[in-house]
Amino acid sequence: MEHRGKVWIAGAGCGDAGLLAVKTKEMIEQAEVIVYDALVSVEVLSQIPADKEMIYVGKRMDHHPVPQKEINEILVRKAKGGKKVLRLKGGDPFIFGRGGEEAEALKEAGVPFEVIPGITSVSAVPAYAGIPLTHRDYVSSFHVVTGHPSRDGMSRIDFHALVRQGGTLVFLMGRTALGDICRGLIEAGMDPETPAAIVERGTQARQRSVVSTVAELEKKAKEAKVGTPSLILVGEVCRMSKCLGWKEERTLDGKQVIVTRPKERGGSLAALLRSEGAQVIEFPSIRIKEIEPNKALEEAVEQLGKRPPEEWLVFTSAIGAEVFFGWLKKKELDVRDLFRRPARIRIAAIGKGTAEKLLQYGIFADLVPKVYCAAELGKALAKRAQEGSHVTVVRAKDGSKELLPPLEKKGIPVEDIPLYETVYQDDGPLSHHVRELLEQAEIDAVLFTSGSTVRGFVRAAGEEAVRGICAVCIGTQTAQEAEKYGMHPVVSPEASIASLAETVIKELRHGGK
Ligand code: SAH
Repeated sequence: MEHRGKVWIAGAGCGDAGLLAVKTKEMIEQAEVIVYDALVSVEVLSQIPADKEMIYVGKRMDHHPVPQKEINEILVRKAKGGKKVLRLKGGDPFIFGRGGEEAEALKEAGVPFEVIPGITSVSAVPAYAGIPLTHRDYVSSFHVVTGHPSRDGMSRIDFHALVRQGGTLVFLMGRTALGDICRGLIEAGMDPETPAAIVERGTQARQRSVVSTVAELEKKAKEAKVGTPSLILVGEVCRMSKCLGWKEERTLDGKQVIVTRPKERGGSLAALLRSEGAQVIEFPSIRIKEIEPNKALEEAVEQLGKRPPEEWLVFTSAIGAEVFFGWLKKKELDVRDLFRRPARIRIAAIGKGTAEKLLQYGIFADLVPKVYCAAELGKALAKRAQEGSHVTVVRAKDGSKELLPPLEKKGIPVEDIPLYETVYQDDGPLSHHVRELLEQAEIDAVLFTSGSTVRGFVRAAGEEAVRGICAVCIGTQTAQEAEKYGMHPVVSPEASIASLAETVIKELRHGGK
């Protein structure tokens, strides 16, 4: 056991989850324990599967960081206990990240480790602010300096050497010492009119930059109340941010949204929104639990198609289709067998998303109601079904009751077969971070695809935190559920992921920042 444990010291980038290294992403899947800092963004944290042991070693509630020695001990202990440990740090672990100290401790303890570099704030933050660190017309070098005054004091920075080199200067941890840095540079002979910038929360939705001159930057930053983390840049290249700023051009720049559908299914929606510039937190509030064994389904499938002339098989969610066809596969039942039976099997889908999922199995739905809702589906079915039809609904346990009355009224026999349950997901430490973001009004919208995702989210985030938030919903029932908790619902015109994404874009683009 002793030898299986290992530590990967990895960089998580500066906030934008798209900047995670492929290798780090793979280790996020493989690791058993993840030890992370305050600089790792919630967007990145939300990509971590729920079954990992998460250890937060950032600043504690009382604002003291966990001492380095204690962090080293945690890494050694977990690895020696046979665990695969991912040590996730902001930016790059070996650039002002104390990754070196952790590697030393591991070496000393005889624990194997690897280092996975991360995209450092040194390069990412200026890139997202439209400031090239080097440019052939202006500079031929750049210099990275810590502005942290506590260790050895400002006097350690050799301002004369920095000014003499003439390269672009990058100061990390320099916000508190901003005034001292600018004065130090001017005293060492730098032209006070040299362009300079400070960029707060670079690469993230709430990125802000203040571009000025060395002489004025401190005053301007104070006026703008620039917070942390922030990076200071000094040099001619800072001029370029005005014409090269690209981040703000994106449709959903500055927006942070939460996707609440189960993770394995949330992927494409998150990707769509990210491609428009949004920061997307994947916070699944429900989980799908397939009913196994499923005797009722077994019997229903056995009977399906044996009651001529016509039967309807009804799907009310894409996941339902997935579970149904997955079940057939597990039972080694060929779909053709169903369609060879005496009754003609017709297929209904509640909305576009479900219909699209059915297409993946080679099935074009015969009926998709115009409006995505269980009652509409029931009505449409009652209208279309022939005399003597038999309806089998395969869906979630405790699905909407409203589907059935229109059919029952017409005397059509209905079998309601539960395929899966939705269970609320308590996403542990992520709930805490999400609640914090909601409290700080840093979430612009939350996306819901069913009433159960609304209820799960409220459970995880708390009723207080969700009040007043913009809820973009699939279906009016989902919207009604959101409204119950004081959210402001917006309903997407169609029941599909593309339509949901479109609605978010429309809503947030027009809304204020
Ligand atoms: N290892 C990290 C740096 C850690 S030191 C890296 O490679 O980026 C912490 C400092 O990094 C902060 O004080 C700030 O100066 C800078 N920093 C990190 N993330 C940042 C961000 N998103 N925006 C601006 N500055 C950031």
